[in-house]
Amino acid sequence: MTALKSPLPNTLPDSAGFYGDFGGRFVPDTLMAPLAELEDAYNKAHADPAFWADYERLLDEFVGRETPLQPMHRLTAQLGGAKIYLKREDLAHTGAHKINNAIGQILLAQRMGKKRIIAETGAGQHGVATATAAAAFGLECIVYMGADDMARQEPNVYRMRLLGAEVVPVTSGSRTLKDAVSEAMRDWVSHVHDTYYLLGSALGPHPYPRMVRDFQSVIGREARAQILAAEGRLPDSIVACVGGGSNAIGIFSGFVDDAQVKLIGVEAGGTAIAKGQHAARFSGGSMGIFQGMKTIILQDTDGQAELTHSVSAGLDYTGVGPEHAYLQALGRAEYTYALDDDAVAALHRLARTEGIICALESAHAVAYAIKTAPALSKDHLMIVNLSGRGDKDIGILRSYEENKKS
Ligand SMILES: *Cc1c(COP(=O)(O)O)cnc(C)c1O
Repeated sequence: MTALKSPLPNTLPDSAGFYGDFGGRFVPDTLMAPLAELEDAYNKAHADPAFWADYERLLDEFVGRETPLQPMHRLTAQLGGAKIYLKREDLAHTGAHKINNAIGQILLAQRMGKKRIIAETGAGQHGVATATAAAAFGLECIVYMGADDMARQEPNVYRMRLLGAEVVPVTSGSRTLKDAVSEAMRDWVSHVHDTYYLLGSALGPHPYPRMVRDFQSVIGREARAQILAAEGRLPDSIVACVGGGSNAIGIFSGFVDDAQVKLIGVEAGGTAIAKGQHAARFSGGSMGIFQGMKTIILQDTDGQAELTHSVSAGLDYTGVGPEHAYLQALGRAEYTYALDDDAVAALHRLARTEGIICALESAHAVAYAIKTAPALSKDHLMIVNLSGRGDKDIGILRSYEENKKS
């Protein structure tokens, strides 16, 4: 029994953290004990209605939930097919879904008596969500970030510092997310007694994929109740962008047991589905082990992680969360991609048609809706998860367009 208004998802990995062939815990010995401690603490919290009551109260008061499920009347009319709804995660505090997870994990850290929060961030969005949650609980926060990413994402570095976080530049390797993850792991191993590692997506070693999914499942629970209230029936399809996979698994989890609801994940097609030019793991990836999990990754024939590219930093990642790999293997969800150009065009169209500037990540899901809705019947109900707002992307959009001109 939980204090939640409706039940948590019931798809569980096995005791070793596997969803079918995917997931698990592929880490050095030194991380086995901290992950076991985390799993134990989460299992206890999961069974405690008081934990979920605190979580829901914070989502209401601090995050501003529930977020609306809004019908897109003008876009639907223009496209002339499926009726499109947006789940407005862009309206959550800090402008994206990531805060749902940060709040859940901060509550867990507090229960575990950890005073020091560490995280790693690529584009800075997860760093900002973590710094926000840590500040609200008066906890120390250290964010590892590749030195090159810090230069590219200066406004988010400034935001994290405003929130009182220490942002540590990582100058090893490629000076990006991969290296920041290694640095955060190193920190965790040497400060386990007082430190909580707050991971930002539904990936990494068990129990993170399940825990992050549970904290993001609020999106699916709300969307389900909202569409039933608005239309008196379930939707025909759910569409979400997939980076690590947390916003997608969060909304999918509300509908995964309803076989008639199609689940569609949209990855970053970048400039083309060719080596180094995209991040569509399900279009060119293969099984491998990456950052603590077994999943579908983009790798060369020697098993080295391939370079990835996307106009949206949040989708630009080598591996996909293991529950998505499992849903794809089962045939329960399907995965496609949107190209950079189509995502940018979708962002423009949504802005002008509906007055919503969405994140470039979310624009990939919108691009799928724009492409497919015209051929669908008018009684097809499609929900697109709008994972975040686009203010953070203004600079990137401007240079993208300048490059196109020259
Ligand atoms: C980080 C981010 C994503 C990608 O992460 P997931 O874990 O796949 O959800 C998508 N949208 C926005 C707005 C983000 O900030």
